[in-house]
Amino acid sequence: MPARLVPGLERRLKAEGLGDVRFDAFTRGRYSTDASHYQIMPLGVVTPRTIEEADRAIAICRAEGIAVTPRGGGTSQAGQTVNQSVILDCSPHLNRVVAVDAAARRCIVEPGIVLDELNRTLKPSGLWFPVDISTASRATIGGMVGNNSCGARSLRYGNTRENVIAIDAMLADGTAAHFGALDDPKTNVPESLRRDLFAIAAREAAEIERRFPTVQRRVGGYNLDAIVPGKNDINLAHLLVGSEGTLAFSTRIELKLSPLLGRRAVAACHFGSFHVAMAAAQHIVKLNPIAVELIDRTMLGLARDIAMFKPTVDAFLRGDPEAILFVEFAEDDAENLRRLKALDELIGDLGLSWDKSGAQWGGVVEVLDPKLQAAITEVRTAGLNIMMSMKEAGKPISFVEDCAVPLEHLADYTARLTEVFERNGTRGTWYAHAAVGCLHVRPVLNLRLDKDVRAMRAIAEEAFAMVREYKGSHSGEHGDGIVRSEFHEKMFGAELVHAFEEVKDRFDPQVLFNPGKIVRAPNFDDRTNFRYGPGYRPDDIATALDWSAYTGTGGGFQGAVEMCNNNGACRARKGGVMCPSYRVTGDERDVTRGRANTLRLAITGQLGPDALTSDDMAETMKLCVSCKACRRECPTGVDMARMKIEVLRARAETRGLSLHDRLVGYLPHYAPYAARLSWLLNLRDVVPGAARLSEAIAGFSARRTLPKWRADWFRDDAARFSLPRLQGRVGRGSGAAALDDGPPPDELRSSTSPASGRGEQRELVLFADTFNRYFERETIDAAQAVLRAAGYGVQFATPADGGRPLCCGRTFLSVGKVAEARQEAERTLAALAPYAERGVPLVGLEPSCLFSFRDEIPSLLRTDLARKVAGNALLFEEFLAREKAAGRLSLKLAPLKKRALLHGHCHQKSFDTMSAVEATLKLIPNLEVETIESSCCGMAGSFGYHADTIEVSRAMGELSLLPAVRQAPDDALIVADGTSCRHQIHDGAGRDAIHVARVLAMALSA
Ligand SMILES: Cc1cc2nc3c(=O)[nH]c(=O)nc-3n(C[C@H](O)[C@H](O)[C@H](O)COP(=O)(O)OP(=O)(O)OC[C@H]3O[C@@H](n4cnc5c(N)ncnc54)[C@H](O)[C@@H]3O)c2cc1C
Ligand code: SF4
Repeated sequence: MPARLVPGLERRLKAEGLGDVRFDAFTRGRYSTDASHYQIMPLGVVTPRTIEEADRAIAICRAEGIAVTPRGGGTSQAGQTVNQSVILDCSPHLNRVVAVDAAARRCIVEPGIVLDELNRTLKPSGLWFPVDISTASRATIGGMVGNNSCGARSLRYGNTRENVIAIDAMLADGTAAHFGALDDPKTNVPESLRRDLFAIAAREAAEIERRFPTVQRRVGGYNLDAIVPGKNDINLAHLLVGSEGTLAFSTRIELKLSPLLGRRAVAACHFGSFHVAMAAAQHIVKLNPIAVELIDRTMLGLARDIAMFKPTVDAFLRGDPEAILFVEFAEDDAENLRRLKALDELIGDLGLSWDKSGAQWGGVVEVLDPKLQAAITEVRTAGLNIMMSMKEAGKPISFVEDCAVPLEHLADYTARLTEVFERNGTRGTWYAHAAVGCLHVRPVLNLRLDKDVRAMRAIAEEAFAMVREYKGSHSGEHGDGIVRSEFHEKMFGAELVHAFEEVKDRFDPQVLFNPGKIVRAPNFDDRTNFRYGPGYRPDDIATALDWSAYTGTGGGFQGAVEMCNNNGACRARKGGVMCPSYRVTGDERDVTRGRANTLRLAITGQLGPDALTSDDMAETMKLCVSCKACRRECPTGVDMARMKIEVLRARAETRGLSLHDRLVGYLPHYAPYAARLSWLLNLRDVVPGAARLSEAIAGFSARRTLPKWRADWFRDDAARFSLPRLQGRVGRGSGAAALDDGPPPDELRSSTSPASGRGEQRELVLFADTFNRYFERETIDAAQAVLRAAGYGVQFATPADGGRPLCCGRTFLSVGKVAEARQEAERTLAALAPYAERGVPLVGLEPSCLFSFRDEIPSLLRTDLARKVAGNALLFEEFLAREKAAGRLSLKLAPLKKRALLHGHCHQKSFDTMSAVEATLKLIPNLEVETIESSCCGMAGSFGYHADTIEVSRAMGELSLLPAVRQAPDDALIVADGTSCRHQIHDGAGRDAIHVARVLAMALSA
């Protein structure tokens, strides 16, 4: 069925109320790619809320003659989910666990449930779905079934196919059918279909026997081998497994479950030669491990360069190996140890030892610590993303990444394919499933260049020919999609390809479901289907920040945007902190990937003129709270908070600012005057109707109180130790002790003169940020008290013009006023220059302000001074932890017999400073510190105050932070360094949180 625009289709789908129906260019663009190199614009996207709605949407498409592509997480690597069709997104709503029968080790789920979600649900019953694929945090069961996905432990558990009991599916003609075992009384596949399928399988039995690769990792073509007559345990569901959404729409899937794995033993086998490692795999599997996973030298190097992975690599790595095979055993403890010993002996028998050199160097490092084992798994499963973190224009491309060959040929195959790469002027990095001969390798190519596209075909032809020679499979776990379907005829022969076409035609004569995959596929190198197709032309855009680490227009901005490879890590709903907006809405628009894709299409003119400054783009960015979680957690380093600044800037320049944004942006300018009128402005939350008026005029939600202006705001010229102000500001349940009144000791008065430091090591500049300065000066007072008590000479930098206080410029950045932010930064840096020259630390309290000095300001100004200040800028806790580690901290703190519940600000997490925060709190004897596993608090600067975003803001808080705070005992301290985090906690849980500096100050005076 050729794709064509049907004007009435959108209207009909909407009229039927079938969930979210979107046919706009921005939404279509977000669904035009998956984790492959293809891009095909769909006709529209439907997000049904129920299976019934999905069925009705399919029925309408059928009636209109329009194709449908079911989609889960969209993480397919071979282009399975891109098509000129209506995309049916199962992931937001069709994700229920319908039933669990723990005794029978089975469950029934809807197709959109994510594997990790399912396994979290199953955990209390001691069971899991053991197909542990790398994308478990976002891949759906429907997608796994669609692709016949395979986990690292497939040696023990098999592929998805071996773990599917039955599938309820909607057929192309609208019939609902149960596909299951032949002896399952519920199996009710229409008789004529069943008869024809069996007839095809029977007719082709000999050809199947002859041509189907026998390696375990064969997921290409249709699984006709599953229904060959005479075969034991025929299960019709297995024909649907791996059919890539081309035969039917799965509505419910029944899965076989397994008991959770017990304690494991892992061995990191080091090899001085890659070839020797590959040759060893066939012997290692005889010890019956559950996994043997490869990481090669290049990947080890890349992983070591990533802050998140470096400690893990350092923990298991010895010397400089060419390859490591991670061998995993999962028996009882005694047996695990016995097998480790046997492995050690085997490696010795292979002639390897630590004291040899070259190819014979090597040995076994045992890893029994479950934490390190888990960390190793993380490095392993991030393999592809580690590779994709390369910033140059050429990228590792997946097309021969999925070949599987019998183990006895693994060494030869890898050596020959490496030669093929070299002959074609490229290189590849090897990793993944050595146990089953399925090694992922992606040659680096720039698909914008004709010569690299030609190289891609040459490599594919040679690689697949080699795989056939070894009787391997060209699709070993990622499926066929557009990449490998073209090559089926060579792999399976013309007769079987014809049989596959018959299967498709018998199921789907009208070609309703996902055309062009598995059968009748386009050429895999047809550039009109590429993400970087023939017309791919980035606009020339002006940018404000430094993107020079990347290539392309906008000073490298294009390259930074293109770093998103659609792997979907940002779609994880648990673990880590990325991406809070998606965790609330579940909408592809509101996730880092969706935003990056929209940006890429916008800057290349694919969303119409002026797309970057359009309302649709503003909507796309609206819920990004600039938490910077993606900066750290996106495996390919997409930093959406920074990109958002460019978008806001472009829009502010063309459209100006709303009153709300002006009030937010210019806060540092008017704050000294506003503070003088604090008595008046604070009436906003007291006088009936005033809050509603502020909502109507300026968009500040009436359901949110605003921060209270302080008449006694912190003034640099009167900066002094003022413990009395610590008293009485802490409300219910903060657990803060009442502190004694009394005048500050004179010797603790601060100096504002850069020249008056008390010796180089002891001098520091405390940055009084706009928020703590005008709204919560207790934090600055407390920090000053603590730092002075520890013997530091606390300075406050003041502007040369003697005017209003200094600011980092963050408020301006948050509304896109980049020129103003630059001015603020320049003014502040000028005041900091004398300190920076002397290497005096700049210590900050508000994470978002302090980290501006390390992140945005150097990128904005690109001067030596900015870089110097960035090098000296430390969070209060980082500074103390550093001093402590250097043996320079002398801070007498009295015990506090309390529990402190700590919430980390997103930027603290993004800059990996939470351990310093925890360590600082632990300086207080007896204080019991517990870090809340929280994502973004949801307040995010001004985000939580806006009438348009208050609901999402609250929902973000409710994800984990607010429930945890509500459960905290009344006398526990709630600790949060972010001003807005404290506001959210106050509003949402009725508790007053305090900054770490205030907790230390309490212990100081206790
Ligand atoms: C970084 C990375 C690592 C990966 N690691 C692995 C790995 O370790 N092992 C592995 O096997 N794969 C891996 N993959 C590939 C991919 O993640 C898996 O194939 C995954 O199972 C796809 O799930 P999904 O929800 O994203 O499915 P999608 O990509 O959305 O869809 C997959 C197929 O299923 C079909 N489909 C979806 N829902 C339905 C439905 N309701 N009815 C009928 N058809 C449906 C789609 O049409 C499509 O053809 C990896 C991919 C990436 C990007
Ligand atoms: S900055 Fe935070 S909210 Fe924005 S895209 Fe990244 S993870 Fe999501």
